[in-house]
This record gives sequence, C-alpha cells and structure tokens, in this order.
Amino acid sequence: MDLADRLRTDIAELQPAMIELRHRLHQRPEIGLELPETQRAVLDALDGLPLEVSVGESCSSVTAVLRGTAERSGPVPAILLRGDMDALPVQELADVEYRSTIDGAMHACGHDLHVAMLAGAARLLSAHRDALHGDVVFMFQPGEEGLNGAGHMIDEGVLDAAGARVQRAYGMHVAAADLPRHQLSTRPGTLMASSDWLSVTVVGAGGHGSAPHHAKDPVSVAAEIITALQTMVTRQFDIFDPVVVTVGSFHAGTRYNIIPGEARFDATIRSFSPAARAKIEQTSVQLCRDIAAAHGLEADARYHQEYPVTVNDATQAEFAAAVVAEVFGPDRFTLQEHPEAGAEDFSRVLEQVPGCYLFLGACPTDDPESAPDNHSAYAQFDDSVMPDGCLLHASLAIKSLQSLSGHQ
Ligand SMILES: [Zn+2]
Ligand SMILES: [Zn+2]
Repeated sequence: MDLADRLRTDIAELQPAMIELRHRLHQRPEIGLELPETQRAVLDALDGLPLEVSVGESCSSVTAVLRGTAERSGPVPAILLRGDMDALPVQELADVEYRSTIDGAMHACGHDLHVAMLAGAARLLSAHRDALHGDVVFMFQPGEEGLNGAGHMIDEGVLDAAGARVQRAYGMHVAAADLPRHQLSTRPGTLMASSDWLSVTVVGAGGHGSAPHHAKDPVSVAAEIITALQTMVTRQFDIFDPVVVTVGSFHAGTRYNIIPGEARFDATIRSFSPAARAKIEQTSVQLCRDIAAAHGLEADARYHQEYPVTVNDATQAEFAAAVVAEVFGPDRFTLQEHPEAGAEDFSRVLEQVPGCYLFLGACPTDDPESAPDNHSAYAQFDDSVMPDGCLLHASLAIKSLQSLSGHQ
C-alpha cells in the first residue's frame, strides 16, 4: 500500500473522533482570544501524541511541534499548519442536532471543523513521522474573528516554535456556500482583502430643529460625508485595484425636532494592495475632515488598520494546487478567478513566510449558490469534508518537507 492509501486508511479510523470533537466544540462555542474549554479540548485531543505542546500567555492558543523521523541531514526544515478555533456572536438557527448550547454564540464560520481537522492531522502525522523530512508546527489559534489572534501567536514565537523559522505555512477555510462540497480552491497572489475600520465623529452644535442657523447640524454633514465616501471610491481609485467602503453603523440624535451635538458613523474598508490601502487611509480621513470644515464643523476621523491583504506565494499556490490534484484528482481543484473581499489574519503569517491558504467546500446541500453563507445564523458545514481537510494538511506537510529537504 502506498503512503496516500495508508493515510486514507488511518483517516477513516480517525473520522469518528474528528466528528465527535467537532460536534462537542460546536455545542460549546467560545468567542475571542480566551477559549478555555476549546483549548482544553485541543490539549485532550493531542494527549499522548509525540508532540512538544505549549500554550499561549496572551491568549488561549495551543502550539504543538512534531519532529519528523525520516532521514534528516543538514539543517532540518520546518513548516506550519494552522487552524483557527474561535466562534462568533451569532444566535444559531441552523437545524442541526449538535446545535450550540450557549446563547448568542455559534461556530458560524466553521472553525470547529478547522480544529478537528488540524487535531486529526496531528494524530495522523504522529503515526507517520517516518514520512516527515523535518518538523511540523501545529498552530491552534484563537481570536481570528477581528481580534488578531495570529498576531498574538507570532509575537509569542509560533513561527520559531520548532527552533528555527518555519519555511512554509499552510491554512485552509471551510465554505458553507459558493463552493461545491469537497471542492478545493485558491489562487496565486492576492487571495483576500485587507480589512480596516474608519471611525468618525462629526462634531457640531446642538439646537432647535426649527432654527438650524443657530446650530451646527452634524446629521446633514455626516450624511454628505457618507455619500462623498462612495464618490471618492469611484473617482480616486483604479477600478482594477478596487476598494470597498461600507458604512455599517450611523448614530445621531434622540428626537426629530432636536439638532444633536454630534453624529457618529463607522465604516469597514477593504482593499487589495498596500498602495490602495495607504491611499484610502489618507484620502478617507482627509475627506471627512475637509467636508466637515467646509460647513464650519469638525470631524474626528480615525483610521484603524486591522488585517493586511492575504497574499499566497505564487510558487506555493502552484504547489498546493498540484498536491490537491495528486491526492484528490484534478477535478477537485478550482482555480479561484478573483480575490475575495473577506479578510483573514493568517495574512500576518503569510507576510513573513511563503505559503498558501485554501478554501474547502463544505456545503451540506447540492446547491451551494443558494446556501446560507459563513457567519449566517443558518450556516451549516458538512462533517464529510473533514477527512479531506485532514488529508490535505498531512499531504502538504509531507510533500513540502520532502521538497525543502531535497528528497523529492
Ligand atoms: Zn469568519
Ligand atoms: Zn473564519
């Protein structure tokens, strides 16, 4: 039996444990950087394996290092596999028997599958250390959903956990919609957007609604700014290097005949290149201030950088596509035509280490176009894709270390 077949046989044995772990996490979703129960579950899942396990100080992360035992000569290469672990503040409405038991929390982004697949890969590779020409760092990360968990783990040294800097990094994300079940997809270069937050307070002067000339109305000025932000996008930015500005919250006033003292709004800003990102940071803030000034008011506009653009190394994207084709067959790979405007803090890892991030179709129905998307209260992810994710993690690790150590 060749290695791929042996891996498949072992995964079939691991599958019930992966499903059980995923359902257990799904019923007890935890949000943010502190995920004590989830961390415990990961530590339990890794218990007894030949791993060097450590936990985070600034967050409840788990890092595990597996030393390969295949022929090692010269400097030993290391690679990283990553799974994020956090849930979302969503009230679950999906009709599944393992539904969330925690009010207002749900694994609506499928990170419960990510944990189970990566824990499965750790167990699988532990049984096949003799196929690893180097070391594997398993990165179990909290706080992907807007809390920069990857940044915390990088600060605490995850990229050097094996003793030397990892030379390649791989991650994957399950998709509840758009991508057919079991299909794998990625693209070279820019894969996902950067995500930033523009927070604006327009400061005016309150007064009587019947006498605006005695006040400084922040509502009309904030409304003008919001419209002008969209004009700015179409007039100042290259359509082939797009940006997205969405004002998702607007708050002002208490009653229709009172001019309030201030108006506040917040926008998410997505861009796909460092150049466009730098430009919109400058132009959006200037536009807010200058429009307010034109009306004799002030705008306190603050731009917060969140996640950078997720960029796949071109060679590593090609390598990952080749691994998918070899392990699952060429029909299982879809080359993603465009980047998508979602964001991902694995981007911080890929800023420092060449690697590839992939999507794995996990839609339980045969109609991914109309299925509820990730983050929906109705989102569902099919358990049957977990062996695929586990096998892909393991295959990327084995083949990447083979190539890094010159054993191809
Ligand atoms: Zn998400
Ligand atoms: Zn996610």
